Amino acid sequence: MLSFKILSIFPKYFVSPFMDGLIKDAIDRSDLTIDVMDIRDFTDDKHKTVDDTPYGGGPGMVMKPGPIVSAIRHAKSGEDDYRVIVFSPRGRKFDQKAAKACAAYRKFILVCGRYEGIDERVTRFYADEEISIGDYVLSGGEPAALVFIETVARLAPGFVGNSQSVIDESYENGLLEYPQYTKPRDFEGHAVPEVLLSGNHKDIQEWRSRQAWELTSQKRPDLLASSGTYTGDVPARSDKKSGGKNG
Ligand code: SAM
Repeated sequence: MLSFKILSIFPKYFVSPFMDGLIKDAIDRSDLTIDVMDIRDFTDDKHKTVDDTPYGGGPGMVMKPGPIVSAIRHAKSGEDDYRVIVFSPRGRKFDQKAAKACAAYRKFILVCGRYEGIDERVTRFYADEEISIGDYVLSGGEPAALVFIETVARLAPGFVGNSQSVIDESYENGLLEYPQYTKPRDFEGHAVPEVLLSGNHKDIQEWRSRQAWELTSQKRPDLLASSGTYTGDVPARSDKKSGGKNG
């Protein structure tokens, strides 16, 4: 069972994202639970204040540590096997490798910041990890929480119907995935590459391997630096039919 507890001041943000697709399927199977907690419920003043001015001056407001730490403690409810993650543009960049490292854990508390960010003491003393989903600044950590859940849950055994789908995907072997085609064979004069219709699995495998390397060298040459040299090998692949309904 995979468990995500999301701490946010905008819980309504999460009303629809988990109502469709593989996430909903996993919730329905009881393989996954997602709880959204409103940080304002952990304030102790009548205005439910979650932010205050920054010490030292400067623009904007900073999220106070008290309500967030109370929410983290409540989410843990005495259990210490939760991985507490704070989202921030200053955090470790989240990529497939980082997602795999996170997938070693089963229970997460995801803290979403707003305004100018979260009081540094939360990150330093009450979190296990600070994660950034990319080198840009969002208005809040909620989209980052969605990205995190979508990526980590996908790596859980049984989450994707055809487990080969996950093994074959982009970034798995340091390469982008080869191009995919489906019916019709000819779309407005644009034909599917002939080799894919040949039925010759060895030729198809070689073509896909070459395409993966060429695409990666064109679009993401930085990935090749860590992938060694072209050998023509690509992991064996079964037909990737699952996910059509739910993505
Ligand atoms: N003042 C902060 C800075 O310059 O680093 C930016 C704060 S941002 C406007 C508000 C919140 O959005 C952050 O506390 C964080 O939770 C979230 N956020 C923004 N960009 C993010 C990113 N690239 N990855 C993860 N979370 C992000």
